[in-house]
Amino acid sequence: MDEDPYADFANQDTQPLPNFTPGPYNALDPATGNLLRKSLNLGSYNYLGFADDWNQTCKEDVVGALGKWGVSNGGCRVEYGTTDMHRELERLVADFLGKEDSLVLNMGFNTNATTIPALVSRGDLIVSDTLNHTSIVNGARASGAAIRTFKHNNAADLEDVLREAIVLGQPRTHRPWRKIIVMVEGIYSMEGEYCNLRMVRDVCKKYKVYLYLDEAHSIGAMGATGRGCCEYAGVDTADVDVLMGTFTKSFGGMGGYIAADAKTIAYLRTKCAGSVFHNSLSPIVCQQILTSFRVIMGLDGTDVGARKLRALRDNSNYMRMRLTDMGLHVLGNYDSPIMPVMLYNPTKIAAFSRECFKRGLAVVVVGFPAVPILMSRARLCISAGHTREDLDDALVKIEEVADICKIRYGWSSFG
Ligand code: PMP
Repeated sequence: MDEDPYADFANQDTQPLPNFTPGPYNALDPATGNLLRKSLNLGSYNYLGFADDWNQTCKEDVVGALGKWGVSNGGCRVEYGTTDMHRELERLVADFLGKEDSLVLNMGFNTNATTIPALVSRGDLIVSDTLNHTSIVNGARASGAAIRTFKHNNAADLEDVLREAIVLGQPRTHRPWRKIIVMVEGIYSMEGEYCNLRMVRDVCKKYKVYLYLDEAHSIGAMGATGRGCCEYAGVDTADVDVLMGTFTKSFGGMGGYIAADAKTIAYLRTKCAGSVFHNSLSPIVCQQILTSFRVIMGLDGTDVGARKLRALRDNSNYMRMRLTDMGLHVLGNYDSPIMPVMLYNPTKIAAFSRECFKRGLAVVVVGFPAVPILMSRARLCISAGHTREDLDDALVKIEEVADICKIRYGWSSFG
């Protein structure tokens, strides 16, 4: 018999990966590929620490749901993929945010990517912050609507773009666009900066355009009770037409939601691809979100949620203050758990990451094309699950690495 020409291809999973070089800086177990070094995680979105105390807070409910429902619903939302849990979660999200209804989908990315094309199309105009997330950009491009951008978080520039796009004072029906929708985020994930929401809201009201707010990084994490950027900025959720968010960051789950008036949500249920063509959110993930929501809202009868919110804010502000005092240039605002530490020079990216990892710190480093080439950075994500000892230990190590990489004030960034 002829030799099988595809034999190597079929067996490739038993071959070592090419260029796989376990070493001190990427200490992977060659047998399993697992990291050998235990590190303090400063790179994941685990804002409220549900990943750390999962056994105490969520496990019982989630395991119960697994026993009752299994792992998959085996259908999309409109074809038998909706359980009582999905509706319960949707009502909870709507109540939490003060909206009439909400729609829950199985992925945050797809929530933006599939609802935006259902909300706007050719003849409409999207006005988008230049630093909006790829999922918003994908949704906007797929919609067929015209897209204009405004300078990041700059309400004055937003106003200029809108003024140019419409003639101020004309009734809505005389505009060159059927619909205009402004798209912003609650906290910008590469900048650690929260949205200038009051001013953006004022401009949207003045020009009578819709406002869409992505709260992926702010829902559950910002505001006195975790209700996100609106609560934090003192903006009534009634002034934001579409609230979007994800469950990946603060809820220890995954999936996304859209909260809006009942008519918009009823329309999206049957018109948005995420609802019609995607399998629905797994029941166990649904349960994880429901349970963590109840903890955040205090519906479990404890103050664990309130303590988590306080710990996140305290940890974030402590870390930001100490990093800044150290002479590092940290982007973003106080109260934000995302801390981009500027490296500027792209040649420092690998060294910073490697030196942190050597010391048992897992950080995310970001370079071109995610950010402009001379705006390279390390992005730290702070969690309510970090203890003060964790953070103090990390600060000592970051100071050492900062000196090695010469990124403290007084050093030339290109030195
Ligand atoms: N929106 C924003 C602003 C994000 O940062 C992200 C992902 N980090 C998403 C949407 C997509 O969410 P998910 O990862 O839950 O799919």
